[in-house]
Amino acid sequence: EQDVAEYRKSLAIRVSGFDVPKPIKTFEDCGFSPQLMAAIKKQGYEKPTPIQCQALPIVLSGMDIIGIAKTGSGKTAAFVLPMIVHIMDQPELQKEEGPIGVICAPTRELAHQIYLETKKFAKPHGLRVSAVYGGMSKLDQFKELKAGCEIVVATPGRLIDMLKMKALTLSRTTYLVLDEADRMFDLGFEPQIRSIVGQIRPDRQTLLFSATMPRKIEKLAREILTDPTRVTVGEVG
Ligand code: ADP
Ligand code: MG
Repeated sequence: EQDVAEYRKSLAIRVSGFDVPKPIKTFEDCGFSPQLMAAIKKQGYEKPTPIQCQALPIVLSGMDIIGIAKTGSGKTAAFVLPMIVHIMDQPELQKEEGPIGVICAPTRELAHQIYLETKKFAKPHGLRVSAVYGGMSKLDQFKELKAGCEIVVATPGRLIDMLKMKALTLSRTTYLVLDEADRMFDLGFEPQIRSIVGQIRPDRQTLLFSATMPRKIEKLAREILTDPTRVTVGEVG
């Protein structure tokens, strides 16, 4: 216990929650598939960043998480890698359709970055990723979603459009990521986020990442996450 506290301190990590798993030291500690390990190495990631050290074991254990860490700290891999594990753990035979993993981000640019990183980790497992944000015609996007995918990376507005057009349903979704929650809030996406969350089964795993944690987001988090473990890296939060 003392060692774990020391190790967290050395990474500038603070945690709150019950039975918080101890932070990992290497990607090998995560039990990832050989395909994922190869993709991680191909990305040039030698060791996990501090947020990854603590968030990966929490998310892999199935817990909800609030992750607070500044831009550039490696949050994307902290939610994408466990998402791939989550999806590969699903039973093969599923009658329902629609994405298992849904990632929401505030802007087209941010969503696109996440989309590119997600594809690198999804491809080795043959998982399909759809980008749902401006830049592609709604008709083309509709067709792509109709063809099926396991993962959607979306801006809230465009995802709502696609849900209204019945391009997809979220009945199969069990892993939801709200990335850059503070910026989504600033851009006025709270109603869209609530609408999306309302269409996803309550026993999902929910992850919320943010660079800051104002009171309004605290309230939203309390409503849509279940007993979240909180991880804060550095001075932010
Ligand atoms: P954030 O979402 O916290 O702003 P990103 O996930 O975009 O951060 O990561 C920032 C940069 O760090 C990206 O270029 C990403 O490829 C890189 N990166 C992420 N994890 C690692 C790692 N473990 N080792 C080295 N580089 C990493
Ligand atoms: Mg990010």
